[in-house]
Amino acid sequence: MNSVVVVHGGGASSISKDRKERVRLGIIQAATTGYNILKEGGSAVDAVEGAVIVLENDPEFNAGCGSVLNVNGEVEMDASIMSGEGLSSGAVSAVRCIANPIKLARLVMEKTPHCFLTGQGAAEFAAAMGMPTVPGEQLVTERNVKRLEKEKQEKDAQKPDQQKNLGTVGAVALDSKGNVAYATSTGGIVNKMVGRVGDTPCIGSGGYADNDIGAISTTGHGESILKVNLARLTLFHIEQGKTLEEAADMSLGYMKSKLKGLGGVILVNKAGDWAVKWTSASMPWAAAKDGKLHSGIELDDTNVIDLP
Ligand code: ASP
Repeated sequence: MNSVVVVHGGGASSISKDRKERVRLGIIQAATTGYNILKEGGSAVDAVEGAVIVLENDPEFNAGCGSVLNVNGEVEMDASIMSGEGLSSGAVSAVRCIANPIKLARLVMEKTPHCFLTGQGAAEFAAAMGMPTVPGEQLVTERNVKRLEKEKQEKDAQKPDQQKNLGTVGAVALDSKGNVAYATSTGGIVNKMVGRVGDTPCIGSGGYADNDIGAISTTGHGESILKVNLARLTLFHIEQGKTLEEAADMSLGYMKSKLKGLGGVILVNKAGDWAVKWTSASMPWAAAKDGKLHSGIELDDTNVIDLP
């Protein structure tokens, strides 16, 4: 089986020692879940959705129940998903009170003639699809309440926005039929304005998938990623003959030099090659292929283990 799954847990400025192990376990669980879906004959879309659901359900990550809070202390989430077969895509933005925005994005892709639903329309569609709502407070963690307080106190004295603590989750996959897909999901950026939409739900910025080129999921400073269309830009370099790693270095380098924007990407192509790259201080990631699981958080910290 040539199948591959790669996941990320968001670009971050640093991850404290006590969180590191929990983050590592979460990311490994997500990659393993995605890989098992492929092994059982699931599609690349099934695998990326399954991997992202694991991360949305893990409070260590900025998505689903670990989402950062907006200026009012509420959770508003963005997500998108795309199949490299036919370029079908689905996205939702600024959604509240649902546990798994990536499931809603997939329903937009599969059950509507549209690519993107937002706010009230997305909420009505979720209800029509029978998606249960959860009380908003259920998505608010103690850690994120503290992060918001800290952010409000430190505002102005801090680093520029583009280099703050970032986070988001994502996955890319190649299945046994040669189809690629990506999924990305986030709570966005701490202390964001109400209604702020980042790069994550925007096809071409938060991710892209085309069987002829590959699939990519991005993380990092959303406004910078939007301005350079980071996902599609990276795939453009691959179309021009660059390797996955060269393409990632070029597009992340461009975003940094042009806008001082930091971020990270994960990539896979039809040949089963994969790559992970980031310009933030760290980016938890894991990749499953050929019965092996590779993972890391910072540079020079790659572990490889056999998958069960
Ligand atoms: N890109 C996300 C956003 O700006 C955040 C992140 O990936 O850290 O919404």
